[in-house]
Amino acid sequence: MSVVGLDLGLQNSVIAAAGRGGVDVILNGNSNRLNPTMVNFDESRKMGEQVSGSTPVSKFKTTIKYMKRLVGLAFDDPRAKKEMEKVPYQCVPITHASGGPPSIAVKVFFNGEDKILPVEQVLGMMVHHMGMVAAKKTAEESGIRGSDNIKKLIPQDWVIAIPPYYTDAQRRAVLTGCEIVGITGVQRLMHENTATALAYGIFKDIRKEFTKENPTNVMFIDMGASAYTVTIAVFEPGKLIIKSANFDEDLGGRDFDQAIANWLADKFSEKFKNKLSGDPKTKPKVMLKLLDAAEKAKKTLSPQGVKEASINLECLMDDLDFNVMLTSSEYEALCAPLLAKLEGPVQKCLEEAKLTSKDLAAVEIVGGSTRIGFVKKKLMEILNVNNLSTTMNADESVARGAALQSA
Ligand code: ATP
Repeated sequence: MSVVGLDLGLQNSVIAAAGRGGVDVILNGNSNRLNPTMVNFDESRKMGEQVSGSTPVSKFKTTIKYMKRLVGLAFDDPRAKKEMEKVPYQCVPITHASGGPPSIAVKVFFNGEDKILPVEQVLGMMVHHMGMVAAKKTAEESGIRGSDNIKKLIPQDWVIAIPPYYTDAQRRAVLTGCEIVGITGVQRLMHENTATALAYGIFKDIRKEFTKENPTNVMFIDMGASAYTVTIAVFEPGKLIIKSANFDEDLGGRDFDQAIANWLADKFSEKFKNKLSGDPKTKPKVMLKLLDAAEKAKKTLSPQGVKEASINLECLMDDLDFNVMLTSSEYEALCAPLLAKLEGPVQKCLEEAKLTSKDLAAVEIVGGSTRIGFVKKKLMEILNVNNLSTTMNADESVARGAALQSA
């Protein structure tokens, strides 16, 4: 395998390689396709699925995640400030010999000492880990053994997907992070939405499904863990044109989790008001446990028709257990402000492309959060359509498109 495509998601990273027969997502050592985007620093460094079970909660000060949203920002940038409030580990400013405003580093206790690591380096470690996922697969297939030999199989050529809202500084920081860990063969940084459109169109184009006379307009809606992107692409034979793209950087699955977690914290405080040693919302570990439970409940409630999710947390705080039921209508009401944000980018995209929803051959939804039943329902209402297309793999379209770009 020589060239790979990488989707470095906020929550999940996926690596794919294009070959003659198409494009394959590369499975990790546990035969899984998604790799948690996190790096844990303890006695040893662990990444992706090596960061197991409860570690992100129990070792929250040394488990670094959300690098994608911190990389390349100045420490004082309001976006960075907002993001740093969301992470439970310590961020510190780091100055550069070349001048410019301080950027962001993380402070971890690793191998018995305090370490300050630029956030782009931690992002680079995750890229390297994904390279090792690919290298191990190649080694397995060709019977190569020994860690030094396997390291030599790390792909040399990469296309890495980045969000369309990245600035030049953010793009440069991704490349710097890769260079720090020895990944120097990044051929291209590609917008995630372009990668999805390419993955959609390339085989249809080969099958001659597009015509010059009637260009095919497709809307792609991607909602992952942190952001929501709407794109209109036009396909003609041999051509893919991005007509318009709009996004909300602050609308993703984690916002739904946060809405549920806040509700849970309030219910917990209400139930045990005389027994608690403090406000659960100010305790990072308690909030991480609630966010974890919230994500599980959210997934339970995603399919339409499911009426309630049971949430049970042992020893949540002050040795108190917490059991509560969240109904689908309560959940939807909690998320109403988030649902209200879906329409803006859709309408702006249509306006900029000078199209109406009737001109769209399909509306393809991708990204894990488009599995939420009422998100799909709301999108159908906004677009006045009876169905949304799910012909693409919601988790893999970006990595597949990046791999195809590299082929
Ligand atoms: P980003 O696109 O912001 O970089 P990402 O690529 O890591 O993030 P995805 O892997 O596309 O994001 O999606 C992860 C999000 O999807 C998480 O918030 C997760 O909770 C949510 N998700 C996954 N499956 C479901 C489901 N069945 N129901 C609801 N949400 C889901």
